[in-house]
Amino acid sequence: MGPRLEKNTHSIQLPREVLIGWGVLSKVGEVCRELGFSSSAFLLTGPKTSRIAAGKAKGSLEKSGFRVKNLIIESSEMRYVSEAEKMIKKSRPQVVLGVGGGKVIDVAKVAASKCLVPFVSVPTTASHDGIASQRASIRDLKTPTSILAQTPIGVVADTEVILQSPYRLTASGCGDIVSKYTAVRDWKLAHDSKGEYYGEYAASLALMSAKLVIRNAKVIRGRTEEGIRVVMEALLSCGIAMSIAGSSRPGSGSEHLFSHALDQVAPKPALHGEQCGVGAIMMAHLHEANWKLIKDSLRKLGAPTTAEELGIEPDYIIEALTRAHRIRPDRYTILGEKGLTRDAARRLAKTTGVIE
Ligand code: ZN
Repeated sequence: MGPRLEKNTHSIQLPREVLIGWGVLSKVGEVCRELGFSSSAFLLTGPKTSRIAAGKAKGSLEKSGFRVKNLIIESSEMRYVSEAEKMIKKSRPQVVLGVGGGKVIDVAKVAASKCLVPFVSVPTTASHDGIASQRASIRDLKTPTSILAQTPIGVVADTEVILQSPYRLTASGCGDIVSKYTAVRDWKLAHDSKGEYYGEYAASLALMSAKLVIRNAKVIRGRTEEGIRVVMEALLSCGIAMSIAGSSRPGSGSEHLFSHALDQVAPKPALHGEQCGVGAIMMAHLHEANWKLIKDSLRKLGAPTTAEELGIEPDYIIEALTRAHRIRPDRYTILGEKGLTRDAARRLAKTTGVIE
């Protein structure tokens, strides 16, 4: 999208309206009007609790004079993207909204992007940093990593709704944020050893989000509105950091490669942010950084720090560690070009207490 750019031109897409607060779901219609839309909206939502939120969002849109079509999706598979795409093309809305957890947001974002329709993100959980980023993960694509879609033009995050979601999802979002600690180090490493572009501003923003979440672990764990706000703002900042960088680099390094590898090998993977958090403990050790700080912080936040807590057999952890560098060969990280041997992987997982 947008004009063709010269090689050294840097284009940054950011959200225009962001509303975070208690009960703001009732303002979805107003936000859409503020963004310049007035007649038609297409709303995507998930099967469970997000339907209640979607109902409220729909009511708000209708009150603001919108005709609203909607679709319920079960998971983040390509066939749901295709189905959404077909419906969007048919009803030709001015704006597409995704009301739900990470998967709903991802499908809505990709479908809207394919139809060249602006997208508004209405997250009902704080489970990962896709809520405000231009990237999305779709399950059965050839690539296990995220793909480029579009930055949401608006974000409406109702803290009342998010606070009611299972805490495990919030803790997972925290794992995703804390993992920026190693993502940023990998990015710097790629800059120093491969001459890759490195943006200090984007890197600092991602790192600051990790630090703020670590510092506020107690408030977050206490399941307070203040805690949810910290997490939402951090997730938002991580998404913005990736927009500013023009790549997922500030948000995704070797710990994300490990998580993607686990998704491939483990019969029952854990949540994205949970796996990234555990990955960050081990990758911080490889970076000779303060891996104990990562581990302690995750523990304080109530996020998993071991294979057992992830519900994944130690063998799959080792297998994923040896495969991680092959997930995305163009992304240079602390894993290097050759990756880890089985022995090195086992040692790393044991030293950091991820396996016994
Ligand atoms: Zn992530």
